[in-house]
Amino acid sequence: MGFFSGQQTIGILGGGQLGKMLLATTRQWDIQTKVMDPSGEAPARLACNQFIQGDLMDYEAVVAFGKDVDILTIEIENVNADALAHLEKKGVQVYPQAQVLKIIQNKCHQKEFYQQHRIPTASFQLFSSKEKLKDAVLRGFVSFPFVWKSESMGYDGYGVKIVRSNHDLEQVNEGGCMAEDLVNIDKELGIIVCRSPKGEIKCYPCVEMEFHPEANQVEYVLSPARISKAVANKAEEVALSVSKAFQHVGLLAVELFLTKEGEIWVNEVAPRPHNSGHYSIEASFTSQFEQHTRAILNLPLGNTENKLTGVMVNLVGKEGYTGAVHYKNLEHILAIEGVNPHIYGKKETRPFRKMGHITIINKDLSIARKIAEEVKETIEVISK
Ligand code: ADP
Repeated sequence: MGFFSGQQTIGILGGGQLGKMLLATTRQWDIQTKVMDPSGEAPARLACNQFIQGDLMDYEAVVAFGKDVDILTIEIENVNADALAHLEKKGVQVYPQAQVLKIIQNKCHQKEFYQQHRIPTASFQLFSSKEKLKDAVLRGFVSFPFVWKSESMGYDGYGVKIVRSNHDLEQVNEGGCMAEDLVNIDKELGIIVCRSPKGEIKCYPCVEMEFHPEANQVEYVLSPARISKAVANKAEEVALSVSKAFQHVGLLAVELFLTKEGEIWVNEVAPRPHNSGHYSIEASFTSQFEQHTRAILNLPLGNTENKLTGVMVNLVGKEGYTGAVHYKNLEHILAIEGVNPHIYGKKETRPFRKMGHITIINKDLSIARKIAEEVKETIEVISK
């Protein structure tokens, strides 16, 4: 194989923090990489061999970027999938495949896919416009409360809103959307499945995600989740059925709801490294980033078990601060055992912007969770 200290190149669409962390493995294995991102200050820029500034949704730009790489992957879903399909036809190995991305890029198509494959998910109705949804509410076909989801470009909860009244309904954006049943959530869980072209499949342990009540962003990820063995097995079974349906190559992060009634439903998936797997860098035998690299190169997959328990804290910009970033009290949290900060290298902070994360590892999950809270209360992401 000509990747290790060789001439073959992996192309990565997107140069954010996920790209940057993926490059830790390519650096370790001396693999040539080329990254494209719209921002000239993309976090991954420093760690790749070649950087191209370009629009990921632009057909021509993506084709031009991908045509001379040997394997093309992504670290963000919002890329031009038609360009990827074209590159596949030209013989570039594109992982995840263009077809997988096309399905998941549209939340409505994704839900229909689950329905077709009999994958358990919350009930929903699709609408081609906000007007049609309002009309359905008026006629009593949809009743409050429900969850409105925009069909496209949702990210970190911005395309999702709980609608409890006509007033809430007025606030949602125009465009194609769905009305989904409000799930009675006990816990939000996640399982990362990895699949290689030769069909080898491995699952990471089920993790638990705790959300920030206002920002609707993940605040803590606990690995493993505090659930019974039976629930963990059921979650794995569902995640594997999703993986089987997609036949993806590389990572597939499956977000799940454990309902108060004890059922496991699929919320959505991401066919790439995921925030819920960052803990794996320190807590697992094989990090999700190494695993993705192994999969797209068709190498044997690594051990997905935890060496220790891990709790990940997202480091987001503090409310009220916008501008050149300053990490206050970083030196204090470094004095605590098992604390591993990751700073993504974004120059500007904004309220709730993901600026980094910190993984706390410990033999005991409850101690790791306590330290995570201390870390969260100590460190501040502010502007100078
Ligand atoms: P995004 O793609 O923007 O991350 P998600 O579909 O993951 O959006 O939804 C974000 C969050 O909104 C979920 O993690 C969950 O907390 C809440 N949510 C989404 N769908 C439902 C639902 N049907 N019922 C209750 N809460 C939901």
